[in-house]
Amino acid sequence: MTVSLLGAAEIRRLAAELDVTPTKKLGQNFVVDANTVRKIVTAARVQPDERVVEIGPGLGSLTLAILETGASVTAVEIDHRLAARLPETARERGVLEGALTVVDADALRVTELPGDPTVLVANLPYNVSVPVLLHFLETFDTIRRGVVMVQAEVAERLAAGPGSKVYGSPSVKAAWYGSFALAGTVSRQVFWPVPNVDSLLVGFHRDEQPRGTEEERRATFEIIDAAFGQRRKMLRQALSNVLGGSAAAASEVLERAGVDPTARGEALTVEDYLRIARAR
Ligand code: SAM
Repeated sequence: MTVSLLGAAEIRRLAAELDVTPTKKLGQNFVVDANTVRKIVTAARVQPDERVVEIGPGLGSLTLAILETGASVTAVEIDHRLAARLPETARERGVLEGALTVVDADALRVTELPGDPTVLVANLPYNVSVPVLLHFLETFDTIRRGVVMVQAEVAERLAAGPGSKVYGSPSVKAAWYGSFALAGTVSRQVFWPVPNVDSLLVGFHRDEQPRGTEEERRATFEIIDAAFGQRRKMLRQALSNVLGGSAAAASEVLERAGVDPTARGEALTVEDYLRIARAR
């Protein structure tokens, strides 16, 4: 199968045909550079027989680059005009029948995906990048690894470990599912329109075994939110509402979990948070 990728002129022509003006509300910054989409696919090490899910395929730049490898793609797009046009674009550019499935839906709300995809590859809509990523990791445990392009600041958070300045609730929640690492830089100039922030690639691998049960995950995330909601406070204070209603009660739980009650949330690993949830 020979797939021809989209260039800048073709992207603009498609957008004009559909009467699409990229909107900030939907985080629509389309990649107009074939080298960049190939770089993302290479970073994700997509293999010909794999099933990939893409969030927000837009006009199809990255979708075609994934399909070019011989992998199949399920693409979830919220903008009806873009979702409706994508199968035709794929056909026109040489993609074989059956290799692409488009789901016209809000990715934050999808609970079923055809084809049990094992790899996630996406240029995520910036305004919902973290919630949509966590939603997919939570909902589709067939996804074992992936590469996403996000705002540089978000990428750094996702990949940060305890003690880092940018370590926050997205870092700990992402770590619940697996390991995350920065996977490459992307110039602003490859987007249309050019965004006013930098982007980075982040790769992830899901852990072999789930870290805990769904109930434990919910409890752990509640504690993470409370800890980072008041990140300057000591844990015994920041967690008093979720651990017994007073600093003294919180200290007791923290000590049972082997965590120093005077520490701050930014010093704890996801394992520490899980131990607190279990000790509650
Ligand atoms: N993948 C394309 C590319 O690289 O050129 C487009 C990426 S653009 C940053 C984000 C895409 O996500 C847009 O096509 C936008 O319409 C879509 N989108 C925004 N919010 C979404 C949501 N909640 N669910 C699914 N798609 C969404």
